[in-house]
Amino acid sequence: MVVPLLTVTRDFLHCVTPGAPQSALPVRVLRVLLLLSLLLLWTVKSLNADDNLRIESVPGMAKQGDVCLIRTSGPVSPKSVHAEFQGERCPLAPGMQNGIFEGLIGIDLTTKPATYEIKVIATDASGRGYSSPFFLKIGKGVFSTQKLSLPRSMVDLDAKTIERVHNEASRLKALFQSSRDERLWKGAFIRPLGGKLSSTFGLDRIINGQRRSPHAGVDLESEAGTPVLASNTGRVVLVDDLFFSGKSVILDHGWGLYSMYFHLSEGLVKEGDRVGRGDMLGRVGSTGRSTGPHLHWAIRMNQARVDPLSLLKLSEHLGE
Ligand SMILES: [Zn+2]
Repeated sequence: MVVPLLTVTRDFLHCVTPGAPQSALPVRVLRVLLLLSLLLLWTVKSLNADDNLRIESVPGMAKQGDVCLIRTSGPVSPKSVHAEFQGERCPLAPGMQNGIFEGLIGIDLTTKPATYEIKVIATDASGRGYSSPFFLKIGKGVFSTQKLSLPRSMVDLDAKTIERVHNEASRLKALFQSSRDERLWKGAFIRPLGGKLSSTFGLDRIINGQRRSPHAGVDLESEAGTPVLASNTGRVVLVDDLFFSGKSVILDHGWGLYSMYFHLSEGLVKEGDRVGRGDMLGRVGSTGRSTGPHLHWAIRMNQARVDPLSLLKLSEHLGE
């Protein structure tokens, strides 16, 4: 699909180059056609820079907070493939179809809207490396504002609580930087429970009249005690009672992907456990900074805070 487009583009370029043989079509028409063909190329989001590696992304155009599936294919069967995005290394694994490699990249909710280069590097069995750039346009996410009133003790923190919050944040940061170098997740991700979506991802939060950190997950409203299930296979890397998130369980799914389950009434797993998709991790509660029983479900992908619903949406492409 790409090759004919490239050929057409090259022909148009030839026609509008000064000194090129006169075309039968007016230059203005050719310019419009050139622009249209470039636009089409952009939409297809696929390129074949060195005739060895073809790259595409799903979705073709991403936005802040998205998880993106990167797929590569080419005439040469690579031994390994990885992508590099904003200093993060994102490995790709063989997909369902022969010769296709695929992996995920996370786009933080505060990423500046722009076109970014993703470098994709493949190595074949003889050790020969191929590198192709891929350009991904990232648009602005649509995030609304939420105003909340909370008890002052949960917002205006004393020195001792501030220290606790800082220590917990450092602990989580270190955790997200130590993902295992193997992929534990497989196939589609699932919602940890039914429940109504009560707060969407990325909400700009004004708490007691002051702007606070954006909402980096989704809130699923459910009765206290409702079972909370693992979104995919992973290793339990944290079970603890934290100031903001209350009783929390965090799973490392490998290759930089984590899922988090906050405000539980109780956790039913322990650190080090290996869990499968759909295994029970705990029960819905209202511990930590919470106004009622709900699950705050969040995803980190290569340090980026991403929308769990974006990962669910991609799941239809991840197979089993
Ligand atoms: Zn929440």
